[in-house]
Amino acid sequence: MQFLGDYLEKVKAKKLYRQTIVYNPVSATHVQENGQVYLLLASNNYLGLTHDPVVQQAAIEAVRLYGTGSGGARLTTGTHPLFDELEQELANFKDTQAAIVFNTGYMANVGVISALAGAEDVIFSDELNHASIIDGCRLSRARVVVYRHSDMEQLQELLKATSCRGKRLIVTDGVFSMDGDIAPLDKIVALAEQYEAIVMVDDAHATGVIGPGGHGTAAYFGVQDKVQVQLGTLSKALGAEGGFVAGSQELIEYIRNKARSFIFSTALAPATIAAGLAALRQLRAQPALVTRLQENAQLVRQLLEYAQMPVVLDGVAPIIPVIVGDADKAVKLTAELKQQGIIISAIRPPTVPVGTSRLRLTVTASHDRKELAAAVNTIVATVKQSEMIVR
Ligand SMILES: *Cc1c(COP(=O)(O)O)cnc(C)c1O
Repeated sequence: MQFLGDYLEKVKAKKLYRQTIVYNPVSATHVQENGQVYLLLASNNYLGLTHDPVVQQAAIEAVRLYGTGSGGARLTTGTHPLFDELEQELANFKDTQAAIVFNTGYMANVGVISALAGAEDVIFSDELNHASIIDGCRLSRARVVVYRHSDMEQLQELLKATSCRGKRLIVTDGVFSMDGDIAPLDKIVALAEQYEAIVMVDDAHATGVIGPGGHGTAAYFGVQDKVQVQLGTLSKALGAEGGFVAGSQELIEYIRNKARSFIFSTALAPATIAAGLAALRQLRAQPALVTRLQENAQLVRQLLEYAQMPVVLDGVAPIIPVIVGDADKAVKLTAELKQQGIIISAIRPPTVPVGTSRLRLTVTASHDRKELAAAVNTIVATVKQSEMIVR
């Protein structure tokens, strides 16, 4: 078992060693550790729904009524009626005929991509797509053609140059998870029509976040009817847990019959489903939550821009990366910021390309604007003081 220690030594030497950190969440925006409270700028809980009293109550009641675990897979032990309600409301929210819930967004990607594509098919995938898309592509055994990030000219060239006997699938994150920019979905669907490809968008960071009322990337561009597969998660803006796919009735039936990560895993617990459903209803009843989220994100992005921090300029999503380059520097900066009461994640390879390690700030609708402004001041001062910016 020598290889275990060898590997760990190697990642430590590269400053890429990873550890879980224990924090006690005290609200949607603050965590506690050893009696000290920290401002959290590292959560994907974009609408603060994890701590919405209505959502919490729905989960509590589901535990009382239905117990804790689900006891088995959806197709064998049975599907809790809450699943039907949730799936119908998700389809309605996404403006599609049907939807299907998986245990996580990761499992949804792996299950759907490997169900849709096989050895005869070609998948065109953005180079910055999420790891779960990459893993789904690998599992499918399809030929995978990676195109440069949101580069539509190259995508077109590759579509033109790649012949295939089977299907073509173009897959992209809607909002990119580490950069916060939005995929040019309007252009992607146009190319897909021209070259007869299926379009799949992963809206893990877009559902509840962008588009009018938080309906996601397809709605943002008004191309819902041209995106065949819309994937999302209940774990981020919806404050619960679980992935989902929305699309035509036939697509969802196909996935139910073919996606192995759906078929062979125990269903989510009733409390989780109840929380997801209550959160979706809160989102739909309060579109102002999405507006506040967008305003808070805009505030932080603008303050960072004024201070000449290297943020992605055209972003609109609440993911705001400050690129510092070196992995070790990113980790040291987050440690310094923690001493000043702020928790931000350092994102390093292999999550992002070598040389683009970053502080990844995420903003939620629940953050207080004054506290956000003060935090940006602290971040800017800390980054400038360390003279660490590479760009
Ligand atoms: C987080 C994320 C996922 C995985 O969703 P989970 O519900 O956390 O498993 C999938 N795709 C993207 C783009 C993500 O950011």
